Amino acid sequence: MPRNPFNPGLAEGVRRFGFRKWYERELLSSHAHLVLVVLCTIAMIGTMEAFASGSQDEKILDVVLLIISGALGLWALRRYLYLLMHAEEVANQASCPACGTYARFELMRENRLTQQIEVRCRQCARHWEINP
Ligand SMILES: [Zn+2]
Repeated sequence: MPRNPFNPGLAEGVRRFGFRKWYERELLSSHAHLVLVVLCTIAMIGTMEAFASGSQDEKILDVVLLIISGALGLWALRRYLYLLMHAEEVANQASCPACGTYARFELMRENRLTQQIEVRCRQCARHWEINP
């Protein structure tokens, strides 16, 4: 799946600005999609209210706008949940299994096919893998 420049994949994100920043960006992006869900819901309520008092042509436009905002809202909800769950899943693997230090590691290797990365703890030098 092609990613946008604001949400690079895990390996590229860790390499470019570190795990904590990558994680923060994923959460920010996910919550921006939640804001879009709220806006789409408001738009749907607005079109339903306008439907009651509109003329025939306006009613058709209201239905079209209702469908568009509903579809956009569903897409944004899916994206919100995906980004949030993915960020949490990766964050749960970010603690060193040996010393428990959170998110202090460097990228050693990446599997471009599976997106799995091998990292090394900066505290105790233990290697482990993170599966996104
Ligand atoms: Zn460690």
